[in-house]
Amino acid sequence: MHPDEPDEPGATGAGGLGSLALARSTLDRAGVLRLDEAGLRVAWAREDSRVLVLHDRRVRVLGDPPRLALVPARSVTDPDEEHRYLLGRDATGACYFALDLTAPAAPADPGDPLVGVRDVGALLDDRDAGLLVHAVALSHWHAGHRHCPRCGALTRPEPGGHRRRCPVDGSEHYPRTDPAVIMAVVDEQDRILLGHQGRWPEGRFSTLAGFVDPGESAEAAVRREVQEETGVVVGAVRYLGSQPWPFPGSLMLGFVASARGDRPTVDGEEISEARWFTRGLLASELAAGRLGLPPEVSIARRLIEYWYGSPLPASPGPVGTAPVR
Ligand SMILES: [Zn+2]
Repeated sequence: MHPDEPDEPGATGAGGLGSLALARSTLDRAGVLRLDEAGLRVAWAREDSRVLVLHDRRVRVLGDPPRLALVPARSVTDPDEEHRYLLGRDATGACYFALDLTAPAAPADPGDPLVGVRDVGALLDDRDAGLLVHAVALSHWHAGHRHCPRCGALTRPEPGGHRRRCPVDGSEHYPRTDPAVIMAVVDEQDRILLGHQGRWPEGRFSTLAGFVDPGESAEAAVRREVQEETGVVVGAVRYLGSQPWPFPGSLMLGFVASARGDRPTVDGEEISEARWFTRGLLASELAAGRLGLPPEVSIARRLIEYWYGSPLPASPGPVGTAPVR
């Protein structure tokens, strides 16, 4: 059985970190319906079914706080079935689809800007956040996996958008997710270890993170990444929660890790500076405008707040929390 089975409706899956911005959803993913061509046609024809139109993975929103500008499925005549993905079904039976248009939206209207997951992921309600993250993750997968990994032929998407098939050798291909670990490393004095990447603005610090290697457990990846990036030796590791990070296809697995408060020695590659912060130092550096933290939408920020014990004031600056290959 393919692991991408229907979620429990309403499950946030966020564990010890509470509800994470991009881990929210209210829909049944309707996994069986994905592969039922006739059922999909019926679902599309329902008066209450809705479509999220993606333009280069950006969408229109309405209002403040924003909600997705969904269009009635019936109003979309002759949809391109190869770029139509089933996202789920609500308790009333209404179905939600994405229509994945790679071309930019027709004439850009400055009063009607398109936005992405990073812009509105933390502002949307649970249903809309789940729809957007699901649609963007699928769009990235289709865009990056057009050819058969066995023979190189161009594969074709199957009706619900959650599988591609090779017309030459018949092999089936499913959406990929890359597990990455991200960790609040805390020492015996209850200080947190944060790192700065050379490509980030000055003063920007975040939790350490990295991709899980083939054949490696998530816990081992936490220890390896911290050691590689800072030389700090990690002891106990505890899982806290996860959220998707569809840029293009990561699943961020959040941990808290205990370590000795050794002086960090950075690798100079990914991390150019690493520092231990007490709560007092973190708060005073933030207040003085000398420290920038990752944005609200990121699990990195939630890990820092988990350690800190309360929400921290918003800080400006670009997103830079995902690990780099
Ligand atoms: Zn093939």
